[in-house]
Amino acid sequence: MSRRYSALALFRNSLTGNRDWDPVWRSPEPKPRYDVVIIGGGGHGLATAYHLARDFGVPRVAVLEKGWIGGGNTGRNTTIVRSDYYYPASTAFFDRSVTLYERLSRELNFNIMFSQRGMLTVAHSRAELDWQRRLVNAAQLAGVDLETVTAAEARRLCPILNDSSGMRHPIVGGMLQRRAGTVRHDAVVWGYARAADRLGVDIVQNCEVTGIDRDAVSGAVTSVRTSRGVIGCGKVGVAVAGHSSVLADMAGFRLPLRSFSLQAFVSEPLKPVLDIVVSSAVLGVYASQSDKGGLVVGGNADPYASYAQRGNMPAAEAVAAGLVELIPAFSRVRLLRQWAGIVDYAHDSSPILGLSPVPNLYLNCGWGGGGFKAIPAGGETFAHTIATGEPHPLIRAFSLDRFRSLALVDEAAAAGIEH
Ligand SMILES: Cc1cc2nc3c(=O)[nH]c(=O)nc-3n(C[C@H](O)[C@H](O)[C@H](O)COP(=O)(O)OP(=O)(O)OC[C@H]3O[C@@H](n4cnc5c(N)ncnc54)[C@H](O)[C@@H]3O)c2cc1C
Repeated sequence: MSRRYSALALFRNSLTGNRDWDPVWRSPEPKPRYDVVIIGGGGHGLATAYHLARDFGVPRVAVLEKGWIGGGNTGRNTTIVRSDYYYPASTAFFDRSVTLYERLSRELNFNIMFSQRGMLTVAHSRAELDWQRRLVNAAQLAGVDLETVTAAEARRLCPILNDSSGMRHPIVGGMLQRRAGTVRHDAVVWGYARAADRLGVDIVQNCEVTGIDRDAVSGAVTSVRTSRGVIGCGKVGVAVAGHSSVLADMAGFRLPLRSFSLQAFVSEPLKPVLDIVVSSAVLGVYASQSDKGGLVVGGNADPYASYAQRGNMPAAEAVAAGLVELIPAFSRVRLLRQWAGIVDYAHDSSPILGLSPVPNLYLNCGWGGGGFKAIPAGGETFAHTIATGEPHPLIRAFSLDRFRSLALVDEAAAAGIEH
C-alpha cells in the first residue's frame, strides 16, 4: 500500500535523492476472472473503478487499457470544468461534478490543481444575449452560479478582449461562471489510478479488448477477449469515449453515436496575461493560460466523422483566426503543438450513461468534447449503476432508452462549442 503524500514525506525523500517513493500504481498481470471489468483507462474508467471498490466494496475489479492510462481524451483535453448547462438533468449532474472536483485533491491525497479562475463566454449579438439570459435563468433556478455580464464588465474581467469598433462580431455582453476553471488532466488520471490501486483494483495497461463473449441462452456478458488472453467477468463497464461504437459492435448492438476528431493547440509560453477562461461560440474558439504560460486553445470538432487522431491545417487556421479576432494581442504568438482526440457525439449532445441492451454490460459514452468536467460525477454514478444494476438517479435522463422515447436532453446550444 502506498504512503500518503505529505510535507514530511517530501522532506524525508529529499534526503535520499527521491529514490524511495512507492510506485504510484502496480502493473499486475491480468487475473483469469474479475467481478467487474472496466474497459478504458481514461478518467471515467478509473473513477468508476475507484468508486466500485470504495463505495460498494466490489472485491475484484480490473481496468483494461489498450495503451497507457490517460492516453485517450483525458490526456488530450483542454481541461475546462464548468456546469453552465440548460436542462435540470444536466445542471444537476455537471454541478455535482464541479462540487466533487472542489474536494478531489483532498479526497485522493493528490493535487489536481483545480484553478477556479472563472469562465467568461462572450456574446456577439442581441440574439445570443437573449439565449444567454435564458441559460443563466435556467442555471440559477437549478442553483448554479451563472450570471450575465455587460460588455464593460466582460472587458474588466478580460482587459485584452478585442475592443475595436470595427470588430466583425462586436462583443455586446456575456455570461460568467465564477466556480468554473481548469484542472490538471494528468493529475486526475494519476490520482484516481493511485487511489483505485490502493483499494486493490488491477490496472492493466497494454491490454486491448478485441472481443466480448456472451452466454448463448441469457445473452449476458461472460468474458472479454483481449490482447493478453481471455478474461472472465461478472459485469463489464465500457468507458472508451470515441471508440464506444467499436465496443458496442463487439457486443452485438449499435449506438446512436458518431465519432469525430477534435483538436487542441498550445502556444509558446507567455508571461501571465490571461487569468480567466474565455470562450466565444460565434468565433469558434476558447482559451486559457496554463501554469507553464502556454495558451491552451480549442475550437470545434472536424465537420466529418473520422477515427483519424491527428491535427490538420483547416482546423488550425479556423481556431487561430477566431483567437486573433477575440484577442488581437495574440496575433504574433506562435502555436507550439497541435493534437487531436476522438470524441463521440449523440444527436442531443448529451452523454449516454447506464444500462445497455446486453445484460451485465453498462455504458459510459457520448461525452463529445465535454466529458472531462464530468469525470468525478461520471465515476460516482456509473459505479452505482454497475454495482446495483439500477441507473443512479442523477443519470436517469441520460439512458440509451431516450432515443426510443425521444425524451432527448438537447444541450447542443448550451455547449455552443466543445469544452
Ligand atoms: C481536444 C479535446 C479537448 C477537450 N476539451 C475538454 C474540456 O475542456 N473540458 C471537458 O470537460 N472535456 C473536454 N474534452 C472531452 C474529454 O476529454 C472527454 O470527454 C473525456 O476525457 C472522456 O473521458 P473517458 O475516460 O471517457 O475517455 P478517454 O480518456 O478517451 O479514455 C478511454 C480509454 O479507452 C481506451 N480504449 C479504447 N478502446 C479500447 C479497447 N478496445 N480496449 C481497451 N481500452 C480501449 C483508450 O485507449 C482510452 O485510454 C476534450 C476532448 C478533446 C479531444
